[in-house]
Amino acid sequence: MQNCPRCHQSIHREALTCPHCGTILKAYGHPGITLHRATGDTFLCESCTYHADDSCTFPKRPHAKECTLYQDVSQPQLEANSIYAPRRHFLESVKLWCQRHPALVGLLALIAVSLLLTLMAQK
Ligand code: SF4
Ligand SMILES: [Zn+2]
Repeated sequence: MQNCPRCHQSIHREALTCPHCGTILKAYGHPGITLHRATGDTFLCESCTYHADDSCTFPKRPHAKECTLYQDVSQPQLEANSIYAPRRHFLESVKLWCQRHPALVGLLALIAVSLLLTLMAQK
């Protein structure tokens, strides 16, 4: 078992999508695919699309020297993400954003409450 990089719920290590938040997980390890290797002191993850979009569940991330699922972030995406990625509903995206930024949500709520109190005090 390991955790979804987005919602942090536990998921099966070979899960293709997170059953909790629907995130498509790309680095679940495929046998028989080109093994990419980092050169010199760099790590593959530094320039990997799946590190950048936070969808990689590979335990070696972010220090992978070798990886079969590496996808160069500077290369155009060949993957037909838009074809099978479920289009997220706007409210669902907002919910996910709130789950990912709880501190910011708390701060915004605090600002809203203090603005409201200020307005009420002026009456
Ligand atoms: S290089 Fe491999 S381990 Fe690193 S982020 Fe990309 S897919 Fe994950
Ligand atoms: Zn998830």
